[in-house]
Amino acid sequence: MATERLTLGLDDPMMARINRLLEKGFPWMKFPGALEQQFLLDLAEPRRRHFLISSLISLLIYNGFLVVDYLMTRDVFWLAVQLRILFFTPLSIAFIYLIWRKKGIFIHSLPPASLEVIVVSSGLIAAASLAFILSETKSPFSPYYHVGFTIIVLYGNIVQRLRFWYAVVFSTALLGIHLAGILLLGSFPHRLLWPILSLVLSAVAFSLTANYVMERDERKRYLLTMRERGVVRELTRAHERLQELSRVDGLTGLYNRRHFQEYVERVWERSQFDGDDVSIMMVDVDHFKKYNDRYGHPAGDECLTQIAKVLQGAVRRPEDLIARYGGEEFIVVLPQTASAYAVGVAERVREAVEALQMRHESSTSSHFVTVSIGVSSCKADFLLKASQLIAAADLALYQAKHEGRNRVCVQELTKPVSTP
Ligand code: GH3
Ligand code: MG
Ligand code: MG
Repeated sequence: MATERLTLGLDDPMMARINRLLEKGFPWMKFPGALEQQFLLDLAEPRRRHFLISSLISLLIYNGFLVVDYLMTRDVFWLAVQLRILFFTPLSIAFIYLIWRKKGIFIHSLPPASLEVIVVSSGLIAAASLAFILSETKSPFSPYYHVGFTIIVLYGNIVQRLRFWYAVVFSTALLGIHLAGILLLGSFPHRLLWPILSLVLSAVAFSLTANYVMERDERKRYLLTMRERGVVRELTRAHERLQELSRVDGLTGLYNRRHFQEYVERVWERSQFDGDDVSIMMVDVDHFKKYNDRYGHPAGDECLTQIAKVLQGAVRRPEDLIARYGGEEFIVVLPQTASAYAVGVAERVREAVEALQMRHESSTSSHFVTVSIGVSSCKADFLLKASQLIAAADLALYQAKHEGRNRVCVQELTKPVSTP
């Protein structure tokens, strides 16, 4: 049996089916296809718990009827004791114990209808034991005791809440046992026949009606819960997507400046505690204004996308974060990284951009698109701020531009000497 859950979104065909069922109803007390399986499986555990509790209560009441046996059929009281205490009770307890202890097998290995079959069987055995007591007794009160069948009907249809079609089968079989008991007995008083039969028939009709309504409500609640789950799942997905979109730059797919700021603050705080090195790389495209002027804005956008890819290829550690910082500026934070390693990464980026050989005929520093990179590094300290490290990277970038572009410059940030 399939145990994986159905996952629903608003546009899921299953969701459409659920909406249709809620609109049109399900008079035959059965959902179509996989939904019925899922329904039975999802409710198997609450159903099992309900069975255990109602069975224990019902068993107590069943044995409590020994008092009635004593008062109405005293001549076969010993038979009643044997049937109730020595036969039915141990059998019931064995089943209750198994269903209580073997939860996994019961829910996942046996078909969901097993419980219905057990309830139907237990009710019919109880009915048969009553019919047997009534067939053996010579007591003048015994015909009245036939109303006892109403209690058994209530047990299956209302207390155990058999699934509707099982309740129909159960009620029909019970009526059969009841009628057979009356007819085969022969000595049943004629005047009592219709009163007793009408009591039992009414109990069957009323309890089946109630059973139908209870199951309809239970199924409707299930459909509503499934729909709610689908809506919540869809909203969660949309929320996550929006959150992602709010952190990502639309052109390059890199993180945006806002997310970078949040991330770098978190890195900084952690590094302050651990006394770790942190490095920042600020990357700026050389003569990009001229590139746009010469090749057009769309080509400029494509160039930025290519550089973003180079960055993603060169910066590989999962905790490193690359972001688009401004128009043609990118920024990278490298946690737990000292300047020597950061300069190595920066140099790799610079070379890789140059190696793309994107023609830039208006550039005064190269024939191709190049980048200048400012690197700053420091040991995170409580006397320093992340913004100071970013400012130092900016300064290093300025220096790289000043020195002729297409190069990497470094600024070490040291903590201010504290005066005693
Ligand atoms: P420098 O070498 O000193 O960095 O010179 P530069 O021309 O690159 O620097 P400047 O700051 O003067 O110009 C940056 C240009 O980047 C200006 C703007 O048109 C362009 N730019 C900014 N954002 C985008 C974008 O999203 N797409 C495109 N195509 N161009 C952009
Ligand atoms: Mg710039
Ligand atoms: Mg530039």
